[in-house]
Amino acid sequence: MFPLLNMNKILAGLYNPGDGHIDPYSLTMALAAGARKYGALLKYPAPVTSLKPRSDGTWDVETPQGSMRANRIVNAAGFWAREIGKMVGLEHPLIPVQHQYVVTSTIPEVKALKRELPVLRDLEGSYYLRQERDGLLFGPYESQEKMQLQDSWVTSGVPPGFGKELFESDLDRIMEHVEAAMEMVPVLKKADIINIVNGPITYSPDILPMVGPHQGLRNYWVAIGFGYGIIHAGGIGKYLSDWILHGEPPFDLIELDPNRYGKWTTTQYTEAKARESYGFNNIVGYPKEERFAGRPTQRVSGLYKTLESKCSMGFHAGWEQPHWFYRPGQDTGYRPSFRRTNWFEPVGSEYKQVMQRVGVIDLSPFGKFNIKGQDSTRLLDHLFANVIPKVGFTNISHMLTPKGRVYAELTVSHQSPGEFLLITGSGSELHDLRWIEEEAVKGGYDVEIKNITDELGVLGVAGPHARKVLQKLTSEDLSDDVFKFLQTKSLKVSNIPVTAIRISYTGELGWELYHRREDSAALYNAIMDAGQEEGIDNFGTYAMNALRLEKAFRAWGSEMNCDTNPLEAGLEYFVKLNKPADFIGKQALKQIKAEGLKRRLVCLTLATDDVDPEGNESIWHKGKVVGNTTSGSYSYSIQKSLAFAYVPVELSKVGQQVEVELLGKHYPAIIIQEPLVLTEPTRNRLQKKGGKDKI
Ligand SMILES: Cc1cc2nc3c(=O)[nH]c(=O)nc-3n(C[C@H](O)[C@H](O)[C@H](O)COP(=O)(O)OP(=O)(O)OC[C@H]3O[C@@H](n4cnc5c(N)ncnc54)[C@H](O)[C@@H]3O)c2cc1C
Repeated sequence: MFPLLNMNKILAGLYNPGDGHIDPYSLTMALAAGARKYGALLKYPAPVTSLKPRSDGTWDVETPQGSMRANRIVNAAGFWAREIGKMVGLEHPLIPVQHQYVVTSTIPEVKALKRELPVLRDLEGSYYLRQERDGLLFGPYESQEKMQLQDSWVTSGVPPGFGKELFESDLDRIMEHVEAAMEMVPVLKKADIINIVNGPITYSPDILPMVGPHQGLRNYWVAIGFGYGIIHAGGIGKYLSDWILHGEPPFDLIELDPNRYGKWTTTQYTEAKARESYGFNNIVGYPKEERFAGRPTQRVSGLYKTLESKCSMGFHAGWEQPHWFYRPGQDTGYRPSFRRTNWFEPVGSEYKQVMQRVGVIDLSPFGKFNIKGQDSTRLLDHLFANVIPKVGFTNISHMLTPKGRVYAELTVSHQSPGEFLLITGSGSELHDLRWIEEEAVKGGYDVEIKNITDELGVLGVAGPHARKVLQKLTSEDLSDDVFKFLQTKSLKVSNIPVTAIRISYTGELGWELYHRREDSAALYNAIMDAGQEEGIDNFGTYAMNALRLEKAFRAWGSEMNCDTNPLEAGLEYFVKLNKPADFIGKQALKQIKAEGLKRRLVCLTLATDDVDPEGNESIWHKGKVVGNTTSGSYSYSIQKSLAFAYVPVELSKVGQQVEVELLGKHYPAIIIQEPLVLTEPTRNRLQKKGGKDKI
């Protein structure tokens, strides 16, 4: 297959018959010809010199060839994308990096080949290599220390007139990769280098492109930050045009959402991350992976200083959030692995902490919006599939797409008549806000929408003693009959004003306390002091994940996204098809229901050794892949692994046996009645009725 390889250096390989290469110029011309065929008018050269939004959502576009009115802008300007962004007041987090590839003269052994060589990627040597005519071409990715950012373009802009020019080549910088390539493909040693190409590639902080509509500017879309723009070109064009035509993404590509970045994404952060991402181009990616360049950002929670040295932090949309807390005498720090590592035992202790006593978690990274105005209730009724909660109450609600898929999941809290606090996950803050703002403007709703994410801190207090601890700090009656499940109240805790919601993603008795960010440390300290007698302690998001899975709580982005509908995701309880409002996706969902489901989300358990499902693992049945997991964890209550998975309806009954593939091994799994552990409100209700706890 690749006769020129030094087989002494190969342990194993992966062959992809679909791999290939294409000439970028011809590809661009072919795409342009295709666009013209379907009626596109291409003007070249016509550099955009000014972009001005109009009140009706259209844009005035200026070019030397004249001005025009556009319904929508798509910024696809490659390494000039920052310049276009600046025209509309945006600082896109992009930076050009220098990338080099080397071309050799004719190599007799290559010339003598009967078949073109496949493209080779040597991850350890960090380069790609392919045949170029009768010679070879190879492109290395240097380490983050050696790679070269074109940072002057960020501060001073792309030099005027820069077009197809290249940077000066620098063979020394890539020498270790050249040597690695020579070891792997020895004929390279005899070859002459005839060309070194060094050109700009635009990197976003996480190396992934930014594709879709941008929050904060109506009808301003982007397709920018392409590190591998040739290979992505056709697919991204189709994805974008489908989205524009049909008003929703054709499929879930949430990783590319431009709104994953925000004001916290500074130039300094972007530079540090681009350096890291380039250097890590060929490294092994682990589950629960953390990357540390550029952290912390300016967006830290009010508890960051208090908790920093006590836990392993995870990065969420600019925030640092505790994943798990260190225990005396146990290993600390970040130990990436495909299997359970040093977090496993401590997370078990945190799990017990919440189930048996009381735990505190920093939930400040949540996205938070305040919505009020005379049309606020009507807008939310149109946006959400659930009913609007009564004043003083909260519910979980979903925004659906016109095709009835799950766009977002938020907690809706009705604070006072017509005033709402909306809460979403950290990763979906601007993603959700854009959708809400867009619908508000489109429908002409008279509302005021304010993003208060950075103003508020959030502490979660959960566990059987949560009430007892908090009651010591407030004059408000927290008893079950007076402060009911899902109720929300403004009160003072240790004299600090908070909005308290009786809700917890752990499924245990708990409150979320929304407060001014500057009060976070004082509030946290007061709660920890008050809870000494009850053995209060911290817990992090890993324990939270184990707790929510046992309660069968779904997670947005895993169990539900733009590829799933709420019925197959088991969210019927939150979708009120009978409510009078014609919410987005209602008609489509009625049709989905009438046609019947093809697959269903199920909960399954499996006995493994030292590995747990993370999501996206294959589900096997009778030798065939029949579905996939969406998320998973170890269940500390039954000492087995637990996962959510989509399987065909005919295989979704409780007791059905399937297999889950983890790290190449098939583990027998069984579909269980969910939830594995009843939630506190349900246990409470059953107890009041004289029923029995499940655990
Ligand atoms: C050495 C090297 C090797 C590479 N190898 C690969 C590879 O093997 N595979 C791969 O997939 N990718 C590769 N790439 C990356 C790839 O070239 C880029 O990702 C890709 O070209 C980006 O495409 P784009 O359309 O986003 O931007 P560009 O190709 O830069 O296009 C941007 C367009 O915007 C236009 N424009 C700029 N300003 C304005 C304005 N004001 N008004 C109107 N138009 C404007 C420009 O004229 C240009 O036509 C490589 C890059 C380099 C440098």
